[in-house]
Parts: sequence; C-alpha cells; structure tokens
Amino acid sequence: MTDEQRQQLRALPQVERVSAEPELAQVPVALRLACIRQALHEIREEILLGRPATSVMERTLALASRAPKVRGAVNATGILLHTNLGRATLAPAAVAAVAAVAQQHATLEVDDESGGRGDRQAGCAALLRELTGADDAIVVNNNAAATVLALTALASGKDVILSRSELVEIGGHFRLPDVIVQSGARLVEVGTTNRTRVGDYTRALTENTGMLLRCHPSNFRVVGFTESASLEELVALSRQAAVPFGDDIGSGALVDFAPFGLTDEPQVQKSIAAGADLVWFSGDKLLGGPQAGILVGRADLIAVCKKHPLMRALRPDKLTLAALEATLRIYRDGTHWEEIPILRRIQRDPGEISRRCRTVARKLKRLGYDTTTEATFSQVGGGSLPDRQLPSHAVAVRAANLPALARQLRHAATPVYGRIERDRLLLDLRAVDPDEEAALVRAFEGQST
Ligand SMILES: *Cc1c(COP(=O)(O)O)cnc(C)c1O
Repeated sequence: MTDEQRQQLRALPQVERVSAEPELAQVPVALRLACIRQALHEIREEILLGRPATSVMERTLALASRAPKVRGAVNATGILLHTNLGRATLAPAAVAAVAAVAQQHATLEVDDESGGRGDRQAGCAALLRELTGADDAIVVNNNAAATVLALTALASGKDVILSRSELVEIGGHFRLPDVIVQSGARLVEVGTTNRTRVGDYTRALTENTGMLLRCHPSNFRVVGFTESASLEELVALSRQAAVPFGDDIGSGALVDFAPFGLTDEPQVQKSIAAGADLVWFSGDKLLGGPQAGILVGRADLIAVCKKHPLMRALRPDKLTLAALEATLRIYRDGTHWEEIPILRRIQRDPGEISRRCRTVARKLKRLGYDTTTEATFSQVGGGSLPDRQLPSHAVAVRAANLPALARQLRHAATPVYGRIERDRLLLDLRAVDPDEEAALVRAFEGQST
C-alpha cells in the first residue's frame, strides 16, 4: 500500500457522520446505514486497487435509489440492435404473451389432447417449419448455444472444415475455433483470410469429416481481393461427400433487407432452399424476438441435437418460448413490417426522424441546453451489417462537460444512452419510439437518482 492509499483510506468518513447528512434524511435509517456501509466497502476496494474513487455520498445515494441493475432504457445511440442495451425490443403482442405466462401457470409441456406430457417447443417448431421451409426446428438460449449444440451433437470426435476467413470472434471472447475444440471436434482450416474456393474444402475432406461449416462474418468485412465458395457449391460438395453442411448465419433475417440498402445479410429461407442441412441464428437480432438460438434443418439432424444431453442445459424457458412464438406468429400473419420494432426502426423515414428531433431540441433549449439538430447515420448493430449505414437525424447537445452530462442521463429515472462525437452529445432518434421522448427530455431535467 502506498502512502497516498493509506491517506485516502484514513480520510474516509465515519458511517454516523455520513448518515447525519441532510441529503440522506429521506432514506429510512436501516436502508441508509446498509447503503453507507456498502458504499464505504466498495470505495475501500477501489482505493486498494488504485482506482479513482467516487464520493461516499454519491455512491450511497445511488445504492439507496434501489434502481435495479437491469431496467428499461432509451437507446439514442443510433445503433438499433445494441448488445449492451439488450438488442431487439419485443413487439407488443410478444410482450403481452410474456406477461401472460409470467403471471400464470402455463401450458408449457402438456399435451392438451391426452393431458399428458407434451413438447415445450411444439408451437415454435411448427411456425419455424412454416416460415423457413425446414423439416424441423429447435430453440436454445442463444446462437452461441446453438453453435455448441450443433457441433457437439453432430461433429464430436470428427473434423469440422471451416474457411480461414470465417475463424471469427463473435464478441465476449466467444471464438469459433475455441468452440469447435470445446465441442470435441477437430478444426480443419482451409483457404486464406481473403480467398477460399470450393476446391480448398474438397481437398480437406476425409473419412473423418463430420461437418462442412460456414459462419457468416457478421461483425466485420474483408474487402478488396476476395473470394469465397458459394452456398450452392458448398451444398453440392456436402451432398457428394455425404457430410452435413452447417450454416451459422448470425442475424436470422426472415425478410429481405436489400430495399433498405442492407444487402449481404443471409436469409434463413434462402439457406434452407439452397439445401443447407442445418442453419442456426439468433432470435434477438434482425428477427426481432427474444434472446434465443434457433436451429432449423433436416429432421434427422435436429432429432440428434434434441436427444443430446446438452439440450437439457440449453433449453429455453416459458418466457422465451412465449415471446418467440408470438413474434413468429406476426411473421406468419404477414404484419411484421408494422409490428416488429426492429423492422419499423429500419423503415423509419429520415424526414420524420428530423421533425421529431426538432421538437425534442426545442424542449431541451427551453431547459437551457445548447441544442441543434443534424443529419447522421444509424447502424443496425448487434453484429449485423457492419459497413451499412442508414441515413438518420440526431439532436446535438453541446455542454462544457459532456461526460458529466452523459453520466447524468445514464442515472436518470429512465436512463438515456446517446453517443459523444467530438464536441457534442448526439441523440439519434431512429431507435427511439415517439412514446419514449418524454422520458428522454425528463432525463435532461436533472431528475437524477
Ligand atoms: C451474433 C452471432 C452469434 C452469437 O449469437 P448470440 O445469440 O449472441 O449467442 C453467433 N454467430 C454469428 C455469425 C453471429 O452473428
């Protein structure tokens, strides 16, 4: 411990002294003392770790506000599927479905004909078969889990052939090569970072090949002198070699986003129609549902995954299944462009966003903020379409201390997340719904908790 640390520790106030401060008068005594002790404990740790410590009062007030760690927030970052802000938001019908089964018991695993045990996945699987054209489907907790399950159940002890251009890290240290090893399979890399041809896969095939794997490079692009084997070539090769072709397409787009300039995003139905044996993707990216991993494809391969002991550890709960089933039903009914929030946000007209920005800017000006509006670009995010941008508009706020302002907004009753660009805080309204604007403005009133 340095002298400075010793001094900082000695300078910490006594619990009783903090408790007597008028700012804490409203907090019940028992809660007040617990929060002060916790605040002092956290600050002592920070001092010992050599980190700059915040004030005891500030820390106590934050703890006393008892704001849950996970709560609703306004996403004005311009990144529509922000992983740190929970990716997709649910359609109203999906929210209602979650609320209903959360509050009541649910028909999760009952067969309403016999009254005996049923299949919790039957509802989602039927809709997925109908929407994607696949023979069968199963749902797990996220796409990382889908990858682990597919590789473990189908390729353990065998070779998995993957292009060097697809040895990706998805985020949060989830690296595909590590997952392949973890699943008990052996990774066989083919091609180069920028160019891989179907012949590279052909030469790598042996008796021991368990799967031809393709992974959509969701969160980066290799541009310039590039080449990759087409979906059709890989399907033909896998058929010829009688080895399953697995396609991790990432976002799970069920519609074509090309009309919005969002090309290059693989679509589930297209992979299935081309003949992929197994396709897997996330539920909470471009699909616009809850966090989930969805596997669709050949019935015999799905059956092997379903029976694998890992399935019990990866199976989704009733809340997820209710939300996903309701989301898929919207696609089935054909009202997805109106009802699914991520699809509405992608369609939102920049002119309309600009008008809303001007209204919000006027309100912030009235509160005394130096505010203008400006054209900007939104991104889809969530590891989708990294090089594609959607023209948008933002409210631009200038302040002497932008990090302090951003912090105030994060601590508001409904936290607001924008992005700091050079000398201003930008609030892109593409991912902000009109009914969230009041909360956004309130955060600027300094009603921090
Ligand atoms: C996002 C993504 C994953 C991980 O999905 P999670 O649902 O976050 O687990 C895996 N593979 C690809 C290609 C992805 O884009």
